[in-house]
Amino acid sequence: MAPAALDAEEPRALALDAADPLSACRDAFLIPPHGTGEQAYFCGNSLGLQPRAARAALDAELDQWATRAVEGHFEGMHPWLDVQDELQQMLAPIVGAAPADVVVMNALSVNLQLLLSSFYRPHGARRAILIEQGAFPSDHHVAVSHLAWRGLGEDALIEVAPDAQGLFATAAFAEVFARQGDRIALALLPGVQYRNGQVFDVAALTELAHRHGAMVCFDLAHAVGNVPLRLADWNVDCAAWCSYKYLNGGPGAPGGVFVHAHHAQRPRLAGWWGHAQATRFQMAAEFVPEQGARGWQLSNPPILAMAPLHASLAPFANIGMPTLRARALRLTGYLDELLCTHAANIIEILTPGDESQRGCQLSLRVRAGREAGRSLFAHLIAHGVIGDWREPDVIRLAPVPLYNRHTDCLRAVRAILDWTRGARG
Ligand SMILES: *Cc1c(COP(=O)(O)O)cnc(C)c1O
Repeated sequence: MAPAALDAEEPRALALDAADPLSACRDAFLIPPHGTGEQAYFCGNSLGLQPRAARAALDAELDQWATRAVEGHFEGMHPWLDVQDELQQMLAPIVGAAPADVVVMNALSVNLQLLLSSFYRPHGARRAILIEQGAFPSDHHVAVSHLAWRGLGEDALIEVAPDAQGLFATAAFAEVFARQGDRIALALLPGVQYRNGQVFDVAALTELAHRHGAMVCFDLAHAVGNVPLRLADWNVDCAAWCSYKYLNGGPGAPGGVFVHAHHAQRPRLAGWWGHAQATRFQMAAEFVPEQGARGWQLSNPPILAMAPLHASLAPFANIGMPTLRARALRLTGYLDELLCTHAANIIEILTPGDESQRGCQLSLRVRAGREAGRSLFAHLIAHGVIGDWREPDVIRLAPVPLYNRHTDCLRAVRAILDWTRGARG
């Protein structure tokens, strides 16, 4: 009976798209083709789509280089020396910070290493780093390599286990802090967990860590541009994110960093670009950090790699996170509803149903097991429904408010039901 049910769904999906005030945002993006049509692209949590304006932004920098060369640092519409100004202005409201608290530099894993060099300062019995069990490999490597760098073993790594549903309750962290709080120097935690899509309570976890005398560093790879953040108000010590997922900055785009204003004077691994801009070119040996997050820069910024960000951050600035978030809840809620109504016997949703605990992404597991999961995933890709696979058995689909549609969600669920009929012969 499923096909008939979904045929009846089509007018509703079209009507929801027609009525949605943000539907037109999609026109600002290049949607990859599939056959004679378009992909239903659900991978914006891994690599966001290209904004149409990215090419012109990149061209403008190539022109600047061609016509001004070294003078491009000081002249033109966007002198390279001021490249951070505009990016800071656009990023600040996305993460809930003052412009001076954020900076665009390096890549995410590099920035986590740099932030831990400032914020993980083991002393006395307080040496451990706390992470969630099953953390993204890079985050795990960052934590373990910092321990090893200080001559500490993996016994100084405290991993908090998920509950039976695979979720990480704040209470589980509270329990670990209650027992081992004296040992913990720093907690390195995600804003949104990459595999199950769970939103962590950043404010509560920060408060918890601080109450026990630990620092917090948040990896916001899957949170930035996805869920509302108020890093400054929440008193987060530091955070880092990449710009190529929900922020659509392009493959390998430079990442972002937040450092809370009250940490401006912390020790750091320094480079000349973090020196106060006013006196940087006096080329003095003494390091005087630039105020705010800019003081964590090491090198002069990769202008060409940053160019698309000017284009890709603009919609966030113009529309605002609350409006984007509202549409994300509508879209993800719709996908959730379709899955629960039509595919509940086939698929289990690992992401919490509670809206406050999820962003765009739904993590799915095929009830029939890993092999069936692989088969469904291949079917989806072959039919232009682009999600991704995370071992051991997770299919991630992320409807993104800037360019996904209700009709994309319907197409995904249709493809799942088609696969079921095929698999049953
Ligand atoms: C995407 C992602 C990364 C990627 O790190 P890069 O240094 O940008 O390659 C790291 N950690 C998490 C949690 C991620 O989701």
